[in-house]
Amino acid sequence: MLIIDSHQDLAWNMLAYGRDYTRSVMETRQIEAGTSTPKRNGDSIIGWPEYQRGNVAVVFSTLYATPAKRMESFDTIVYRDSETAHRLYRDQIDLYRRLTDSHPDKFRLITSTPELDSIIEHWSTPVQNGTGHPVGLIQLMEGADGIRSPHELPEWWDMGLRMIGLAWAGTRYCGGTSEPGPLTDEGRELISAMADFNFILDLSHMDEAAAYESLDRYEGPVMATHANCAAVVRDPDTNRHLPDDVIRGLIERDGVIGVVPFNTFLKAGWKRVSGSRREEVTLGDVIAHIDHICQLAGNSLHAGIGSDFDGGFGLQSIPPELDSIADLPLIATKLIERGYTETDAENILGGNWLRFMRRSLPS
Ligand SMILES: [Zn+2]
Repeated sequence: MLIIDSHQDLAWNMLAYGRDYTRSVMETRQIEAGTSTPKRNGDSIIGWPEYQRGNVAVVFSTLYATPAKRMESFDTIVYRDSETAHRLYRDQIDLYRRLTDSHPDKFRLITSTPELDSIIEHWSTPVQNGTGHPVGLIQLMEGADGIRSPHELPEWWDMGLRMIGLAWAGTRYCGGTSEPGPLTDEGRELISAMADFNFILDLSHMDEAAAYESLDRYEGPVMATHANCAAVVRDPDTNRHLPDDVIRGLIERDGVIGVVPFNTFLKAGWKRVSGSRREEVTLGDVIAHIDHICQLAGNSLHAGIGSDFDGGFGLQSIPPELDSIADLPLIATKLIERGYTETDAENILGGNWLRFMRRSLPS
């Protein structure tokens, strides 16, 4: 059973914390022991050896920078204007290029269906002694402030960008987390230009007003790389989770939603900084979100996993059954215990994203 994980901030971690994802989780934790990194971002839960153990074949890897209006004292990758955001995102594109050029045995960029299929084929063939499989990276922009104008979309496309989320906090394109609002005129113009390329639109972090409008308006593929169900977590303090009507809209558009195994998104009020304990949340809470999507859909074809691991949280903030990305297959075990079939579990762990990407990427 192969896993496709629809959200990881790899470049941001490499730049902000100097993390090297060719290393194992244990090596990274040892190197960072006694530094301020685990305090800020938690102990790392991602590493190439763990991708191998967990059968994580493909990752949607982000371009991410923090807007100055939302920066915390320790943030280092911060933008105040779209020029800076643009440069910071370009740096991350360059970083993925260097990573995949210098370690083609470990990481490869995916920009088309043949490249996707060659990674899947590699993972489906037994490894030669001592080697492993290359993890495929599909580049995703999280928060579109780095796109200065729709005229530069051809450049981003040529650099291998295939997915764009307009929001993180609100951007000049639309309302976002903690900043309610619809698409702006610039947002409408951007998504109309995105459709010409068939860019994939990520609704994660969009405020619901913007999400409904995008579902109506956007002509290309839509999905949510990392978002949980508002009806399950019931957290009145945030608009970060998807209302049922947005989930229904995504299902109607044949989208997929990557559920996030992050305790703060699983239990309202859970905060590491306030001393919440890992044991207050379980893997069962992750299953509840997946199950809610499957109940709304009436099938297992629209739920996926978008771990967001190392994306501002680590070991201390995930359900206690998990130690690293290598443990994601436990979600399949839990689903099957809950009455899901093996095929359902395969769909949810990777099959749904695989079909979605095969019909959305250029051939
Ligand atoms: Zn995010």
